[in-house]
Amino acid sequence: MDALSTPPLPDLFDAEHQVLQAGRVVYEAGSGTAATPCRHALGELLTAYERLLRETRRLVRRSDRAELEMNQLNLRLQDLAAQLEYRANHDPLTGVLNRGAIIEQVNRRFECEDLALIVLDIDHFKRINDNFGHPRGDQVILGVIACLQAIVPPFAQIGRVGGEEFTVLLPASGSETSGQVAEALRQSIESYVFDLPDGSGITASFGVSWMPRGSNFDSAYGLADEALYAAKRDGRNRVWLALDGPYRPYAA
Ligand code: GH3
Ligand code: MG
Ligand code: MG
Repeated sequence: MDALSTPPLPDLFDAEHQVLQAGRVVYEAGSGTAATPCRHALGELLTAYERLLRETRRLVRRSDRAELEMNQLNLRLQDLAAQLEYRANHDPLTGVLNRGAIIEQVNRRFECEDLALIVLDIDHFKRINDNFGHPRGDQVILGVIACLQAIVPPFAQIGRVGGEEFTVLLPASGSETSGQVAEALRQSIESYVFDLPDGSGITASFGVSWMPRGSNFDSAYGLADEALYAAKRDGRNRVWLALDGPYRPYAA
């Protein structure tokens, strides 16, 4: 309901107003007679009381306006705080969690569950910037994020840990499942149409770690990163696993 359609509030000072009116009637009734000190005092009292009432009404109106303004400012402040929190936790280009936020998420979730961490890095990304410019490179990053978002399960979280390096946090999925998710992501990026001027495609390399409850980001990320570099050394566009035992390439 807007301010215009709000019904008028009951008069706070109705009783005082009635008393004043009754006093005025008595005062006016005696106007033909000679002024007595008593009548004079009543007149002064009425004038002072009327002024007091006018002032009080003005103060109440002013305080209502101030309260309304304060409520509006409070809403604006809540809105700005939400915007600030979003900006503090999200990457401005892609909208996924930034490095700090994903580290916090991983560490928090390790307190109560096992986690898989997928780390991926776009292959030969520098050539995109060098050949077609940075804006085109940014478009490629957005395309890769679209591939991730289309495939990862709803309970997963995507983060940007570096320029063209991303993580997918997979809670509550078995270690083999995380390898399958990484492989599905790899295939999705490989077949995505990036519309590059030379018609070339994009690939990414993947490392996957699986660690038990009580671990932390540094150890999970360290393992996944080593697996990722094994994938790079193996020729890129591959998934390597660091799950239990020695690193190995993903095999369906
Ligand atoms: P590799 O296959 O070994 O990963 O090679 P690469 O070329 O992908 O890796 P390299 O580390 O040599 O280059 C990564 C490039 O990513 C360098 C940097 O300028 C670029 N980059 C980082 N962040 C952004 C970004 O937000 N936008 C764009 N357009 N480029 C970025
Ligand atoms: Mg790269
Ligand atoms: Mg990189």
